[in-house]
Amino acid sequence: MVSKAALAVRARKGLAPRIAGLLAAAALSAGALAPATALAAQEAQVVGDLAAFNVLTDSAAPIARADAQEAASDALALDTGTLLLCYDPAAVAGVGTQVSTGHTSCCLAFCQAIGDSMLTGSAISHTEYAYYGDCASNPCASYDGWEDDTTDLADVIFEIDAGRPAVVHVAGYASSSHWVVAYGYQGVADPDEATLDNLLVIDPWDGALLVASDRYSRHGDGVIRLSTSGGSVTPSNGLGVYRLYNEVTSEHLYTADFNEYASLVVSGADWRGEGTCWTGAKDGVAVYRLYNSGLGLHHYTSDLYEMEVLVGQEGWVPDNDGLPIFYSAEDAWGNAAEGASTVYRLYNPALGQHHLTRDENEYATLALEQYGWNQEGKAFYALG
Ligand SMILES: [Zn+2]
Repeated sequence: MVSKAALAVRARKGLAPRIAGLLAAAALSAGALAPATALAAQEAQVVGDLAAFNVLTDSAAPIARADAQEAASDALALDTGTLLLCYDPAAVAGVGTQVSTGHTSCCLAFCQAIGDSMLTGSAISHTEYAYYGDCASNPCASYDGWEDDTTDLADVIFEIDAGRPAVVHVAGYASSSHWVVAYGYQGVADPDEATLDNLLVIDPWDGALLVASDRYSRHGDGVIRLSTSGGSVTPSNGLGVYRLYNEVTSEHLYTADFNEYASLVVSGADWRGEGTCWTGAKDGVAVYRLYNSGLGLHHYTSDLYEMEVLVGQEGWVPDNDGLPIFYSAEDAWGNAAEGASTVYRLYNPALGQHHLTRDENEYATLALEQYGWNQEGKAFYALG
């Protein structure tokens, strides 16, 4: 399991240089990027009109959780004791925070708005949850869509297993009576023994992503509110592979580190979370991420030889401390795991960029002449 300290360190590590690199790349004018490697293509040029491509990226809507995946996912969750909801941080960021809005008494309304924004994939105003239609005079409202019928943290674990966030009554830091949104858990061996050490939460106060016990203890009444909206988002057992899009560099970034994903989305460094993820394998063939600060680009490969060659060339360094960024669901002979889906790779010589997708329609469409992408076949296998 990942300790609190490790989570915090991991969220910080690599982030600053990456952002710095991307900003540096953004500062370069079109055509000024100097291709440094064979892979980054001699003909690499930044082209201005990417509108056609943007239209083709996945929608920000959460992926509906297929029934068939539910049992497997639950089993996997129990196996690792860690599960995160694969929500769209851009939708949640759109809700705002208590601090940013000055509505410092509206914590429960914010929590409900954040939770329903996760479930719907689009930002909802916290004022929608004002019980008397006026959150200024009746803050921290009650709301029919969220029930307060439990005090048991095990129910929070089960809600997250079912793809739903839960809202937990806590005390400390922001207020002696405060609410936070649980969107994941870690290190749970037995749900009945769960504590705030196990809950990964969003604090509506300032939008911080926390281990709940970093700031809070349980409130005396221990009340927990559960969504009754009927929706759900795709959970991943800590192995969800998330995709972001950078509007300045036109690059997609892939990571299995939810903290990195969420941090980049809220960093204001031009990243937009695409709310898209696939479930990575727990093991199999390791996929590494390389970063070129001169080009402001990342590259993904499971080919150790390719990695060795690239790292020997100017500009490319192993990202993520040289550790795998995710795994491909295949054995050493290239046989896909049962139920795995193919992640395809395309290359755009004009952009000098690769693109990964498991959407066969996107894979086919981008290869049309007007979009300029060349199909490169299977890159990896994803689970689910
Ligand atoms: Zn308010």
